[in-house]
Amino acid sequence: MLIKRDDQTGLATGGNKARKLEYLMAEALGRECTAVVTVGGPQSNHCRMTAAACRRLGLEPYLLLTGPQPAEAEGNLLFDRLFGAHLRFVDTTDEAAIAVELACLEEDARAAGHRPYVIPLGGSTALGAAGYVEAMRELERQATCRVDHVVVASGSGGTQAGLVVGAGAWFGGPRVHGVSVSRPREVLVPLVARLADETARLLGVDPPAADAVVVHDCYFGPGYGVMTEDCREAIRLVARTEGLLLDPVYTGKAMAGLVDLVRKGVFERGQTVVFWHTGGVPALQAYRKWFAGDTAPPT
Ligand SMILES: *Cc1c(COP(=O)(O)O)cnc(C)c1O
Repeated sequence: MLIKRDDQTGLATGGNKARKLEYLMAEALGRECTAVVTVGGPQSNHCRMTAAACRRLGLEPYLLLTGPQPAEAEGNLLFDRLFGAHLRFVDTTDEAAIAVELACLEEDARAAGHRPYVIPLGGSTALGAAGYVEAMRELERQATCRVDHVVVASGSGGTQAGLVVGAGAWFGGPRVHGVSVSRPREVLVPLVARLADETARLLGVDPPAADAVVVHDCYFGPGYGVMTEDCREAIRLVARTEGLLLDPVYTGKAMAGLVDLVRKGVFERGQTVVFWHTGGVPALQAYRKWFAGDTAPPT
């Protein structure tokens, strides 16, 4: 197994959102916007990286954080505060209510004299996903052997959509396995497929084959951001065998999925699997109670 280190993309501790933001922020600048408004949970990597990208480019970040407001600013939320992002908390998961709050935040930015650019959840538009078409091209250039499978965490679907389009353009390219962190297959497959089609159209390349969107949905447990025993085990396993950190929301669950797919014989002997590390490590801090029992071995 090989690991593609998008936890090292270099923007405020790294992560996959840098590749989407490369294109989204370019559009914001092209439209002469002066602020960016986006949305995510209190431990959103997307929000943290958007805030960092804004500061890098001289734009003002406005973040709508959904769910209960944490008592302490830790992990990504600490970084949001360090970047001086304007924060609005709303304790709901209802999409319509979130859309209303997002419009209010956009209005706040206008009232402050800004021209806002709005990025939807996870930056998963066709333009954002284009960053992952380019990422797959990068893997193709870097690969020194045939790559048979790519395993990646899939949330809002833009990362997987871009990778699927990129794999379609790579002769003999890999099969992309999305490990869902929040949605059942019936929801995530059509979402990724639609986004992949839009992305292919935007770039003027062939749309992916009908069976190219593969989603595994038995690894997210009770729901988004909820720790599972398999996720905890996967984080420990990779920490102790590789000295490498995974995150509790995305890559821990994706790795738990990879381990199970190996056990189930989904990958054939001799095939090469690339695990796409999408980042998220700052959130670990907010999940420390799950690792409270991990003490140093006796000396
Ligand atoms: C956002 C995110 C993902 C999922 O990417 P999507 O494009 O939303 O599917 C995976 N891993 C990490 C660490 C993320 O922050």
